[in-house]
Amino acid sequence: MERERFKVLVTDNIAEEGIDTLKRGGDIDVDIKPGIKSDELTNIIGEYDAVVTRSGTSIKAGVLERPGKLKIIGRAGVGLENVDIEAASKKGIIVMNAPTGNTLAATELTMGAMLSAARKIPLANNSLKAGSWDRKQFMGVELYNKTLGIVGLGRIGSNVAIRAKSFGMRVIAFDPFIKKSKADDLGVSLYEEFDKLLRESDVITFHTPLTNKTRNMVTAAEINTMKDGVIIINCARGGIVNENDLYDALKSGKVFTAGVDVFETEPPFKSKLLEVDNLFVTPHIGANTWEGQKAVSVILCEQLVNALNGRPYQNGVNIPFIKSQLPDRAQLYFDLAEKMGKLAAQIIKGRAEEIRVVMVGKGFEEDLCERKFDVPFSFQPFTVAALKGFLAVSHQETVTFLNAPYLAQDQNVVVQESKAEHFEKFNDLLVFIVRTDKGETLFGGTVFSDSRGRVVLLDGFRLDIIPDGTFLNFRIFDRPGVVGRVGTILGDHNVNIAGLSLSRQVTGEEIAFVSVDCPIEPEVMKQILAIDGMIEASVIEL
Ligand code: NAD
Repeated sequence: MERERFKVLVTDNIAEEGIDTLKRGGDIDVDIKPGIKSDELTNIIGEYDAVVTRSGTSIKAGVLERPGKLKIIGRAGVGLENVDIEAASKKGIIVMNAPTGNTLAATELTMGAMLSAARKIPLANNSLKAGSWDRKQFMGVELYNKTLGIVGLGRIGSNVAIRAKSFGMRVIAFDPFIKKSKADDLGVSLYEEFDKLLRESDVITFHTPLTNKTRNMVTAAEINTMKDGVIIINCARGGIVNENDLYDALKSGKVFTAGVDVFETEPPFKSKLLEVDNLFVTPHIGANTWEGQKAVSVILCEQLVNALNGRPYQNGVNIPFIKSQLPDRAQLYFDLAEKMGKLAAQIIKGRAEEIRVVMVGKGFEEDLCERKFDVPFSFQPFTVAALKGFLAVSHQETVTFLNAPYLAQDQNVVVQESKAEHFEKFNDLLVFIVRTDKGETLFGGTVFSDSRGRVVLLDGFRLDIIPDGTFLNFRIFDRPGVVGRVGTILGDHNVNIAGLSLSRQVTGEEIAFVSVDCPIEPEVMKQILAIDGMIEASVIEL
């Protein structure tokens, strides 16, 4: 019997090359309806196997009420604010995106921002066009022989490094999640300390996602440690460099110039930054090149053709077909695994070299473990979920359940999984072990009869943490009064404690996870870190 042809609806203008990819994909009819209204989309969406959008079409729960034969929603780009991923997952619809097509576009904008900032090109342009021929004002600096500090040596950071070296710059980087060999291959010195990079750089450029570690990564304190006359570039995400503090530093001249493409609030019409002359801004156009748009369109449409034809694809954002087919208890372990990965990434020291997932106990036999992912990795769902959680801390939205194993492989992280019958006294336990260049850390999690996943082991410490929300994690010397002082400081700053898990070891140390109801400001953390008996403390988001 002849197979029915697939139908794909394209609801926004995407590059023609992507449409050609769909048409060449075989057995696919493509309808293009840019600007389609929500009512019409709701009525016809069920007739299609897949729908392709950019940011212009909202695909929220209402639109998916009658999904008919819809199997895939594809976003030609990264952001998925316009798609209700949860509603799609509930209906078994795959959501996919194309996070990698913009790399060179964003890289080149960064180089442009750097050159503009070094030579004040935008100001010079405005001045001449306003009828002035005042060349003295536009003394700039050369990039040659200067030190470029790159924060985040991922796709864009690496490409910026390659180009900066061709300008004769000395390139140094800070990225706690990549292996040193990657930096060595690029001819970049990888620094262990962020402060050291700040002190030595003439130009600093940011290429990290926005996470709880990178939000406000640069405030007045960090700017003070920088060289006088430093240049700052942020073409990554608004909020990494504190806007108020950057404003003050530009005004005072501590920062020579800055180039910014991304803002805490976009559009940034109320931001003071727009008032400063030595700040050069662009309206979040990092991805806006014809080539970049073509690349995301082709990448997305190639994936879509593969998915429709049952072939593997990388950038699936949800995994309805896996999770919803797991038994209820396995779904709880699946969620727990993701949280354990996230916890591990925020706790371990050093750069990950090997990750081991051990499924302990009878519960992980047959029932829980029969299904494999439809990708060329034969990992169990729990391993993939743990990897996704682990990598999300350093890669945010670009890591998905489907590409997590690929990403780990790209980073030369060896992933192993195994089963065991026993581990200490636990009947069922999911063990997640990360080996880094600095040592090994073990996490254990289990689901109790109340159907809640809990983290119960961290190395030799017994814990009881429901991994959800914000935690203050600290390690202290086991002596009276230290925990009390933490409580007092939190209380003094109106941070309400929702729960506490405290564990002691024979070594004379204790660790604690304090669940809190609101964020803990850096100033409060400073006070906590200064407590006598405190070994280390950090905020963990789960
Ligand atoms: P990537 O995932 O390839 O690289 C991000 C790197 O940041 C990783 O190597 C990661 O290890 C590192 N990192 C994470 N947390 C860190 C931390 N606390 N300190 C130091 N390094 C850390 O991502 P990419 O594709 O290179 O994108 C980089 C950023 O650029 C992202 O925020 C992305 O959203 C943004 N972006 C902006 C535009 C734009 O239009 N301006 C376009 C594309 C990408």
